[in-house]
Amino acid sequence: ASESNLIRATLFPGDGIGPEIANSVKQIFSSADVPIEWEEHYVGQEIDPRTQSFLTWESLESVRKNKVGLKGPMATPIGKGHRSLNLTLRKELNLYANVRPCYSLPGYKTRYDDVNLITIRENTEGEYSGLEHQVVRGVVESLKIITRQASLRVAEYAFHYAKTHGRDRVSAIHKANIMQKTDGLFLKCCREVAEKFPEIKYEEVVIDNCCMMLVKNPALFDVLVMPNLYGDIISDLCAGLIGGLGLTPSCNIGEGGIALAEAVHGSAPDIAGKNMANPTALLLSAVTMLRHLELHDKADRIQDAILKTIAEGKYRTADLGGTSSTTDFTEAICDHL
Ligand code: NAD
Repeated sequence: ASESNLIRATLFPGDGIGPEIANSVKQIFSSADVPIEWEEHYVGQEIDPRTQSFLTWESLESVRKNKVGLKGPMATPIGKGHRSLNLTLRKELNLYANVRPCYSLPGYKTRYDDVNLITIRENTEGEYSGLEHQVVRGVVESLKIITRQASLRVAEYAFHYAKTHGRDRVSAIHKANIMQKTDGLFLKCCREVAEKFPEIKYEEVVIDNCCMMLVKNPALFDVLVMPNLYGDIISDLCAGLIGGLGLTPSCNIGEGGIALAEAVHGSAPDIAGKNMANPTALLLSAVTMLRHLELHDKADRIQDAILKTIAEGKYRTADLGGTSSTTDFTEAICDHL
């Protein structure tokens, strides 16, 4: 691509294994001639008073301006007087939906061969509103907030996603039999949106039954949409179905069309700096970013090379039972491009 065709994207390498796996992404993107120019931002050493966190205002502005980015894991430093890094990103960029594709990797054997589903988690409210207090000693209260606006927004996103990705069913996951008002409103919003998408089948599944169905037969599901806490739990359950957090990508969708892709796992301090980390989750997240940019050829090519490398089994990192280093595994993917 010529200079002028380059798309600018923000890159947060993050902490711990973050820089090592971010290097893998950069190397593979450059081997595949992806027309992206990275604008790198690191987590700062000091609190920026404008964001009250270790992320600078400029780094947030970079995502707002580029509208697309990739984020490595961030370890929030312990101490008072600042906001969690992930929470800062979520709030400042209004990242309202967390999307996690979850599919069986050919050649990497787990209990299931046919997982192919997407979880879409409402990311701004529910039990994560941070409204907790003590009523009297020994009694505490936590408020679960569900709004029509946030529920409609995430439901719209889920149906739009299904429609544009050739998927034919959306399941709303809830516990409205008990949480009648909150989950009831969430379901009402999903139903309203479903009416606008008659070509997409719509169903409602109670969360406990959903867990049982997922572990018995994950092929029963296609696109799942749900409030915040259920999404947190179900998306990790789904990651477990296909082999764990080292493999699962995600993408956060924010107001104004922002897409910030990120690996689901943390900074893995136990293996940081040892050239042992599996870059697959961050790589597949970067692939979701390419799809968001409609660079499908590049996305397919990179995804195929990753899957081939894993399926071949010659180069695998320790978490997948192999002995390869991060850099050897990365080289092997470049050879498959
Ligand atoms: P973790 O995900 O970092 O690690 C859990 C286990 O999985 C460890 O044994 C680790 O070695 C392994 N692991 C994780 N990613 C791997 C990879 N790519 N390749 C190989 N092995 C991998 O979870 P944790 O130890 O609970 O958290 C560590 C730090 O990360 C904490 O500070 C936490 O706050 C932060 N964290 C950040 C995010 C994020 O930025 N989205 C998410 C979770 C945790």
